[in-house]
Formats: sequence, structure tokens, C-alpha cells
Amino acid sequence: MYIIEKAPAKINLTLDVLYKRPDQFHQVEMVMTTVDLADRIEFFLLEKDKIKVSSENRFVPNDERNLAYRAAKLLKERYKVKQGVRIKIDKQIPVAAGLAGGSSDAAATLRGLNRLWGLNLTLDQLAVLGSEVGSDVSFCVYNSTALAKGRGEDITELPAPPHCWVILAKPVQGVSTQSVYQSLQLQDLDHPDTEGMIRAIKQSDYQGVCSRLKNVLETVTLPKNPEVEQIKHQMKRSGADAVLMSGSGPTVFGLVQQESRADRIYNSLRGFCEEVYVVRLLGSQQRLD
Ligand code: ATP
Repeated sequence: MYIIEKAPAKINLTLDVLYKRPDQFHQVEMVMTTVDLADRIEFFLLEKDKIKVSSENRFVPNDERNLAYRAAKLLKERYKVKQGVRIKIDKQIPVAAGLAGGSSDAAATLRGLNRLWGLNLTLDQLAVLGSEVGSDVSFCVYNSTALAKGRGEDITELPAPPHCWVILAKPVQGVSTQSVYQSLQLQDLDHPDTEGMIRAIKQSDYQGVCSRLKNVLETVTLPKNPEVEQIKHQMKRSGADAVLMSGSGPTVFGLVQQESRADRIYNSLRGFCEEVYVVRLLGSQQRLD
């Protein structure tokens, strides 16, 4: 018996860091949504008590360091599952890109194994479990649009933003999320208008969403990675309505409403950026199905 789950990438429409907590995590406020660029994960039921993970992508670990493995192990231990699973990840989301690829694989694993092992857990239960695997996993469990607070695990779902096209461009050099947070200077940050972004989404106000894209982690990643700034500049020049770095980077995304404009931006980037994608903004599980 086997089943398939899609694990879509996320982008940050806002990313704010409020303060450093006594437990050393940063208190964040992020509005995130999903895009139609997804890993495809197959789950094969094993009668033996084993978890095996495989992926042909050389940057993805095939052992207990894989977040999908960790999610499976946690679920298995917590609910005393006797069966095992073989997890095959077809990686489409760039790795270490700020698109939460690993977290989305972990979330898809929770959803997939909930079905495969017949556990009947709710998404809310899976999201709580996911927060033990990683900060972005809870968000990814819902595959929707949400405000994430706390260290990312406190989720309030939002409606899907207005339909648009998203151009994603990933510079060659990956970025370590941990080191970006370590280098962040909390004083003098220019904070995003998170409330305004939520309002714009609720009103389906595309211009309002565009005008409020903001990510405080750009203050760390941009000066260290000139390619990110170049890509932002090029996207704007070739007609993107708004442009931002996602997560800790280095992936940059641009929003447009017309497909022809998305194609123009895609072509203008192909010259100096190897990994460029044009995808739809999803924003809800229904649009993924
Ligand atoms: P985030 O946006 O949540 O910070 P990211 O998109 O920057 O995440 P990932 O693609 O999740 O980063 O990868 C970060 C690291 O996690 C990789 O270098 C990789 O070694 C490890 N990793 C573990 N499991 C996975 C997985 N299933 N897919 C990709 N990377 C994984």
C-alpha cells in the first residue's frame, strides 16, 4: 500500500522579528503563504518496524537528519505505531533557499502517515506535533496562508491572497537560517506593517499586499550576498509589481498579475540566475488539490 502527498514551498509576505526570548529563540511575526512549487512524496507501508528515507537530491540527507525522517519517528513513537514506512522524496523545491522545503516535507510526512497508519489525527494535532520538529512545520501542516507568531508555531489561518503569479529566483549560494538570525541586529529595525498586510489579504487588495511586502532578515542577507540585491533590482526593472527575499533567503520572489509579464521577468533573469521558476500563488489547500 502506498500514498502520495504534495509538499509545497512557502514564501514570506512579511517577516518581523520582535525580540530574543529567554529560551534563545526569536519572537517572530510572519505572514506566510504557499506557492505551486512542490516536492512530491511517496509513502510505502512497511510491515517491519523501520523508517527509511530516500531522495536523489545530493543536498538532502537520507538519514535521521532529514526532517521527514524526524517527523515520522516522532509520530511513530508518540502514537506507538508498530508498522514502518519507506519515504521517497522527489525534491523540486531548492534546498536551503528560504522556501521551507525541509519543513514542508516534514509536514507532508505528518499528513501522509496520519493517513497511511490510520491515526485519524486532526490538522491541529499534527501542527502541535510538527512544532517539535521545526519552527515552520506547523505552518506547513495547514498548507494555507497564515500569520505565524511565537517562534513560528502559533498559527492563525488567513484567507488566500488574491490570485497572482510568483517568479522565484534562487542565487547559487545557499544561506544558513541559523547564522542569519545570529547576525540580526534587533535595534533600529524597520518593522513590517503586519496588521496592514493581514487587512489587505482579507480585503483581497492586491496592491495593498504588494505595498506591504517586507522582511527584516534582508538587513542581514542582502549586504552579504550581492547577488540577492542584483536579482531584486532586475525583477523590479523588468516589471514585477513587488519584490522580496523569502525567509532567511537567498531566494527572491516577485509578484505580477499578468502571465505575459511573469514570462518576461523569467526570461530577463535566465541570463544570470540558474534557478528561476514561474508558479501560481496557492494560498490554500483547495488550490493545491
Ligand atoms: P527555512 O525556510 O524553513 O529556513 P530553508 O528553505 O532555508 O528552510 P531547507 O530547504 O529546509 O531550508 O534546508 C535546510 C537544511 O535542512 C538543508 O541544508 C538540509 O541539509 C536539511 N534538510 C533536512 N531534511 C531536509 C529535506 N527533507 N529537504 C531539504 N533539506 C533538508
